[in-house]
Amino acid sequence: MSKHYEQYSLYLRKLHQDFIDSWNEKSESNAVLSDFDRYKVLGTGAFGVVYLVKHTSSGKYYAMKALEKEKVVKLKQIEHSYYEKKILCGLNFPFVVYMKYFFKDNVYIYFILPFINGGEMFTHLRRMGKFEETAAKFYGAQVILALEYLHACELVYRDLKPENILIDRTGYIKITDFGFCKWIRGRTWTLCGTPEYLAPEIILSKGYGMSVDWWSLGILLFEMSAGHPPFFASDPMRIYEKIVAGKYRCPGHFTTELKDLISHVLQVDITRRYGNLKDGVLDFKNHKWFKEIDWDNILNSRIHPPFVPKIKSPGDTTNFDPFEEEKIKESPVCLFEDEFADF
Ligand code: AMP
Repeated sequence: MSKHYEQYSLYLRKLHQDFIDSWNEKSESNAVLSDFDRYKVLGTGAFGVVYLVKHTSSGKYYAMKALEKEKVVKLKQIEHSYYEKKILCGLNFPFVVYMKYFFKDNVYIYFILPFINGGEMFTHLRRMGKFEETAAKFYGAQVILALEYLHACELVYRDLKPENILIDRTGYIKITDFGFCKWIRGRTWTLCGTPEYLAPEIILSKGYGMSVDWWSLGILLFEMSAGHPPFFASDPMRIYEKIVAGKYRCPGHFTTELKDLISHVLQVDITRRYGNLKDGVLDFKNHKWFKEIDWDNILNSRIHPPFVPKIKSPGDTTNFDPFEEEKIKESPVCLFEDEFADF
């Protein structure tokens, strides 16, 4: 291991300790709904809606994720949403979002995150069809650093996909949606994620660990450069069959280096999968597809991004797809008070 990487490992170890300290701290709610003016819907999830809001006293814009307690309970996601809150409160890395404020009311729990105004990578990818390999490399490198950080904190992310990667106003990424992220020591068994991005070991109901994130990184590298994921079908069961068979075809325009890298990541056998081998993340960092990437410069945002989103004002939402307005529900009584007592 190089001296430089040893130093970086020490830095990650410190971030891990910071995360543990935050986890053990009892954090108190630090805002209320009336502190914010609500604007457009930025996106929706299975049990929540994300709004653009303005913090009235500071004039700053944020993304407000409102999780409806009733839906969270019905979909048996109380534990996941508790983890999401604890994890967001402890995150501190350039390429992931973090929690600025949180609170709850009678109907919802709310997470207030920095507003990342360049929109989802998904939107840009679909608009452009596919990315040049230099762009895929630029984004891929940041995702690798983010996963390295999360794994150093013993966090498995479990939902990597272009919808959850936001582009900030500088053109760098921020990973959002920690709804499936979990602090694990050892293995976990829950089936969760998005069909096209699921690792074979999740589909096969095996206990799994961080290896599932490296698999989904392989899917992402493929999808960014091809414009479509390697395993796809209209029926999720067909997708799963293809994933566990592990057979895919790279488009002819992929460079030899990219094909080589993907072949090391999309390994059904986790004992052969990059990220999961004895050199860990260094197998990515030292791979020839990334040879022109200076990892330190990426970490410190010193590389000129392939594309900088057009943003007219701090509250500009034109980089997000339009959504129908969603009314915030009210209730005179507090719903599910006991279930969400620890929030
Ligand atoms: P989530 O339920 O966390 O997956 O969020 C749903 C969608 O809301 C995302 O796919 C984004 O389009 C949008 N979104 C989430 N967090 C943010 C944020 N911090 N800034 C801007 N948009 C966001």
